[in-house]
Amino acid sequence: MNLQLSRLVQLQQLDLKLHDLEQQQQQIPQRLREMQAPIDQDQKRLEELQRSRKTVASDRRRSEQDLSDHESHLKKKQERLSELKTNKEYQAHLFEIEQARKEKDKLEDKILQCMERDETILKEQEEVQTRLQASTRDMEKEKVELESRGARLTDEIATVEQQKQTLVGTLDKRVYHRYSALKSSLKLVVVAQVRGGTCLGCQLQIPPQLVASVRRSDQLLTCPYCHRILYAEEALHEATESLSTP
Ligand SMILES: [Zn+2]
Repeated sequence: MNLQLSRLVQLQQLDLKLHDLEQQQQQIPQRLREMQAPIDQDQKRLEELQRSRKTVASDRRRSEQDLSDHESHLKKKQERLSELKTNKEYQAHLFEIEQARKEKDKLEDKILQCMERDETILKEQEEVQTRLQASTRDMEKEKVELESRGARLTDEIATVEQQKQTLVGTLDKRVYHRYSALKSSLKLVVVAQVRGGTCLGCQLQIPPQLVASVRRSDQLLTCPYCHRILYAEEALHEATESLSTP
């Protein structure tokens, strides 16, 4: 087999491996973002809850102040009862006291509602805090694993890049140029295997005389449909055997 072709097949394998490693590496920040999202959401919820508690507390303080004002007002009204001369005045005053009592009940209810609301918020706050602690712990743990995986991938990529550079050094410049040009238009797979008369790059049947030429593999041939460089597996094995035989 054409030695250049067998090297191109190896180059293709290295490029595929690089692509795979790079994709794995790109998934790491994405995974971290996925884990961070619910944490951010819970932190935001906690802030909202804290704000709600402050509002409820200030509502309660205001109602307590109103209640205290109201109570002293009511007390004064009750003290005035003995000073009243006529029954009519007395009845009217009693009615006012009754109204003031009702108002006092309303304020007490309002304070009670504030306390209940605060309890509900506090309960949710505790739930969110517990969940947040657990997810932060998980995140920290997985982050360490992902970072060491990222470092391993960086090393592997460097190794494959090195192998690729060595291989490219053994390639005919024109052949490598052709491979690179095809790679920029075809993206990833540039060298395709012919099996059963089909180009595995585009899955189309290629003419029998082309199949025969690819099997002989004395020159670089391309698929008439997808323009990938073609090779036959059997010719590749022969080339590998002849390479390893001194
Ligand atoms: Zn093809």
